[in-house]
Amino acid sequence: MVIVMEKHASEKLIENIIKKLDKDGFDIHRSTGIDHTLLGVIGDTTRLDVRDIQLMEGVADAYRITAPYKLVSREFKPQDTVFKIKDVEFGGNETIVMAGPCSIESGDQIDRIAARVAKAGARVLRGGAFKPRTSPYAFQGMGEEGLKVMREAADKYNLLMITEAMDKDQIELINRYTDIIQVGARNMQNFSFIRALGKTDKPIFLKRGIAATIEEWLMAAEYVLSGGNKNVIFCERGIRTFETYTRNTMDISAIPIIQKLSHLPIFADPSHGTGIRSKVIPMARAAVAAGAHGLMVEVHDQPDKALSDGAQSLYPDQFDDLMKQIRIIAEVIGRKVS
Ligand code: PEP
Ligand code: MN
Repeated sequence: MVIVMEKHASEKLIENIIKKLDKDGFDIHRSTGIDHTLLGVIGDTTRLDVRDIQLMEGVADAYRITAPYKLVSREFKPQDTVFKIKDVEFGGNETIVMAGPCSIESGDQIDRIAARVAKAGARVLRGGAFKPRTSPYAFQGMGEEGLKVMREAADKYNLLMITEAMDKDQIELINRYTDIIQVGARNMQNFSFIRALGKTDKPIFLKRGIAATIEEWLMAAEYVLSGGNKNVIFCERGIRTFETYTRNTMDISAIPIIQKLSHLPIFADPSHGTGIRSKVIPMARAAVAAGAHGLMVEVHDQPDKALSDGAQSLYPDQFDDLMKQIRIIAEVIGRKVS
């Protein structure tokens, strides 16, 4: 951190700050200019709140020069994090597609959709058994019965399984069925929950919060990594802006930004990112072109009858087209899609 003292700040004020930071265990590098004195604070400045420093007498301003996150940062670990679940590699050269319905609705439904997405080249089956719905009266998910039928379908078609846990109490149950635990946008800053996920042995799919900055999102991943779980996948799923045409505004720029700031994989979800079926394929193409490590896409064979998110779910035939298109796009940037 760098502290800029006010013009001609008195020696006494400068000494006070140096003394305080020294007492807190920091080393100070002082550089005395003609007008301004600068103090470089050396040590674990993640413990400091910049605003506290800015309020100290004689201080003109203070800035962080190192990020407040550590374990997730590229500075800490320059090489990409790549890990495997069974035969599927995340964070590597293959663009991994996760697909399936928003909610698991029955054994038959998840089986039919799994068959179609597997045939088209998806590697992971998505589906919610516990749904974070805006309305308490909307369908809340099938619960454990849903997890069971989804696991069967995933195994039958040689797919991995991803499903959402909504709170700490569900982790143990969901962990028994799934390969990847999804953290929903509404839970990205549920700190006791994400801290607990740091103690699990399953990769965590961390959706970006509805109004989360990139730094807040990175800090959420830091909670998981600092608990010992090193396998986090970021997922851009659209953020809340002033635009009302789409359900959310999909921030494609988050893909190269996360890749610059972190070594962890970054996926994109154009279904929640737009909320409109006809906009899903174009945004999926954009995400792959931007270099995403993977996609999450909602697919339903009877979207008009879906119990949630039918309007943004692709028909299986559309999903076939999407896979064909992204195979070509991925190749252009030296990546591949199965
Ligand atoms: C979902 O994946 O169905 C979901 C609820 O996503 P999000 O948390 O991004 O809204
Ligand atoms: Mn959904």
